[in-house]
Amino acid sequence: MEIIIASNNKNKIREFKKIFEGSNIELKSLEEKGINIDVEETGTTFEENALIKAKAIAELTGELAIADDSGLMCDGLNGEPGVYSARYAGPQHNDSDNNALLVKNIKNVKNRNARYVCAICLCKPNGKHIITKASCEGEIIDTPRGNNGFGYDPYFYIEKFKRTMAEITLEEKNTISHRAKALEELKKIYEEFINNK
Ligand code: IMP
Repeated sequence: MEIIIASNNKNKIREFKKIFEGSNIELKSLEEKGINIDVEETGTTFEENALIKAKAIAELTGELAIADDSGLMCDGLNGEPGVYSARYAGPQHNDSDNNALLVKNIKNVKNRNARYVCAICLCKPNGKHIITKASCEGEIIDTPRGNNGFGYDPYFYIEKFKRTMAEITLEEKNTISHRAKALEELKKIYEEFINNK
């Protein structure tokens, strides 16, 4: 069975594909389907944005689509950057600009507890959908460590591994990450959802 991943984020796509490896689901990226579209994230919650993206692609293609909306929430920054994680430093900014702003804003903040949050939506062309959500706890450090992963990973320290998210392997990340946990939840319920009209 084929499902389209409603994302242009190569890192997310890699993590998704790794998790579905060996299952009966074949995930296809927008690029692999020849679709060049960037769906605007107009929602104010992770769930809303995941639905907006999955629904747009399912309606456009007439196929099942899956989307993730995720972000970093820092307790000492009142939950920022939150749903705006990808655009923290502004609409045209990249991971390193976002990381620079995070380091600046958290510099004098004592509470470094943070979590990654991920909502995943699987949507049919008729708009029917299911959503799962999960999180992954960590702490924000001042100096980046590691080259794996993406986004805020070099600053996201995980006590369990005593390393940052950018220092652990993709296999290790997929045992604890917000995205992997939300996808595992989805894997438990998707078959029934797909088989019901
Ligand atoms: P969006 O879901 O496309 O709106 O973007 C999610 C943003 O949250 C990314 O651009 C990253 O800044 C951040 N993010 C989400 N998941 C991760 C992760 O696993 N590692 C690092 N950063 C992440």
